[in-house]
Amino acid sequence: DTLSNKIAAGEVVERPASIVKELVENSIDAESTVIEIALEEAGLTSIRVTDNGKGMSARDAVVAFERHATSKISNEHDLFRIRTLGFRGEALASIASVSKVSLWTSDGETEGTEVQIEGGMVVKQSNAAYRKGTDMTVAQLFYNTPARLKYMKTIQTELGHTIDLVNRLAISHPHISFKLMHHSQVLLQTAGKGDQRRVLHDIYGTAVAKKMVPFHGENADFKVSGFVTLPEMTRASKNYMTLIVNGRWVKSYAANQAVLDGLHTYLPIGRFPISVVNVETDPFLTDVNVHPSKQHIRLSKEADLFALIKTAVHEAVKKAII
Ligand code: ADP
Ligand code: MG
Repeated sequence: DTLSNKIAAGEVVERPASIVKELVENSIDAESTVIEIALEEAGLTSIRVTDNGKGMSARDAVVAFERHATSKISNEHDLFRIRTLGFRGEALASIASVSKVSLWTSDGETEGTEVQIEGGMVVKQSNAAYRKGTDMTVAQLFYNTPARLKYMKTIQTELGHTIDLVNRLAISHPHISFKLMHHSQVLLQTAGKGDQRRVLHDIYGTAVAKKMVPFHGENADFKVSGFVTLPEMTRASKNYMTLIVNGRWVKSYAANQAVLDGLHTYLPIGRFPISVVNVETDPFLTDVNVHPSKQHIRLSKEADLFALIKTAVHEAVKKAII
């Protein structure tokens, strides 16, 4: 129902960047290898995400907008072994309740479908030719929730949040080619060749990428790898530190701290590295069902993980500096 969707939208759809996150994560879950994001007015006027993933059948295309419609988990057992980015089945219902959505999709087997939804209601559905994949446009964000619209910051601020998000998603998925456009300007494009260092190069530039030291560590439960900049290439904020757990970008103060602890003797006061930490672990040791935005994670044995990160970073940087 539209009311509960709008209530959920309050948590899932904070700003344009949160919509980009949900749409792109769906494209990633659909096993896309090329994802394009095109924004108008930083996404307040329109957000369009096009992918070459597995697409949807005509029936699934409508069901996808119903609350708790997820094709990704089917029972409680799955909830504790999540390998996809989505699983709550509420993002599309929430987004559609506060915007106007148009969707073209095809699973490559049946005929393609076009669906238009306004304020959560299907206003049009028809067959439409479409290649395999999905093309979704979210327009007039918050047109029916003026209070939220008023709260949006300037175009530059909203755009900054989306660029930051797409950067992190691209770093998390080096095998996917991402392209981010604002009006006709290309803000980011990655090759999708699987090379994380190259993605870092595309985002942070040659000078930074050259100064990044790779590190590795492993114990019985966790495999850790990543890159960290040497002390001469640091920033004044922690915003360039990225943690990726089983392919999901998550925010963790403690993991950042583990990287900082590993660098402690080398890092000037008030400076922070540009870093990426990839963690691979059994999904059973993780819990991402902490908040609807899925940006936080609970981990079993987290003290062991942080010690592993700290040591891996410390050893690698020590070697690189000598
Ligand atoms: P969740 O991702 O938690 O399952 P969503 O509301 O984000 O829930 O999406 C609902 C469903 O719509 C997904 O489970 C998936 O089956 C389908 N879907 C959404 N976007 C895509 C896409 N780009 N390609 C294929 N299927 C999609
Ligand atoms: Mg989703």
